[in-house]
Amino acid sequence: MSGAITIDQLLAGLGQHMPVAPAPYKQTPGKTGLVIIDEVNGFATVGCGPLAPPVPNPQVTRMIAETDRLARRFIAAGAPVFVTRDVHEADRPEPPYPPHCIKGTGDEELVPALAWLTGTSGVTILDKDCINSFVGAIQPDGRNLLLDWITDNGLEAVIYTGICTDICVMDAVLALLSARNHGIAGKLRDVVIYEPACATYDLPRAVADDLSLPPTASHPQALAHHLGLYFMASRGAVIASDLV
Ligand SMILES: [Zn+2]
Repeated sequence: MSGAITIDQLLAGLGQHMPVAPAPYKQTPGKTGLVIIDEVNGFATVGCGPLAPPVPNPQVTRMIAETDRLARRFIAAGAPVFVTRDVHEADRPEPPYPPHCIKGTGDEELVPALAWLTGTSGVTILDKDCINSFVGAIQPDGRNLLLDWITDNGLEAVIYTGICTDICVMDAVLALLSARNHGIAGKLRDVVIYEPACATYDLPRAVADDLSLPPTASHPQALAHHLGLYFMASRGAVIASDLV
């Protein structure tokens, strides 16, 4: 691999050719809701299953702290919060991922710092068994619990936080942008990603190779986070560095 491009070099190149420029976002009081994607043990607590960080990860630690801070601010202001949890039945795999967040193991529960959200007034919790929580919000009768939450609260903006930036957050954001443009999301105007409260996992190419995983399993954290933000921004989402 001598002469190979390093992650830092690639990130610098992406920053030049596919830039992401988070900026402060001004909220509309009373018209903004907070969505928290999958900040469960199985994705964000060290050692809780194959998709959790094997050692403390600064990006994940920051995500949890920033999400907690933001959620407390929203709840104190009486603003609505929508939380998704990834929950799977043991006999229903989710390829290409190994078994994770199996019901009853505790891995599907919110991380300890966010456990207070469960049962808190103003918090809606959705358990879903697929990456895309917009799809996971569809009920057998055709209702979509996320769209109901947006329209019932008269939301004009939704702030996204959570994990993974380029997987569950991105799929949810892109689907909601389409729903907005399709005219089925009430008064929704802005779909915002609060970058400091998003994270993704780190599986460098060398580790994927050592585990005999396919090349597509390679997932360097910094690059995946950047690309997730880039694709959401390029589809019309707002990338926020701060909420003012
Ligand atoms: Zn899952």
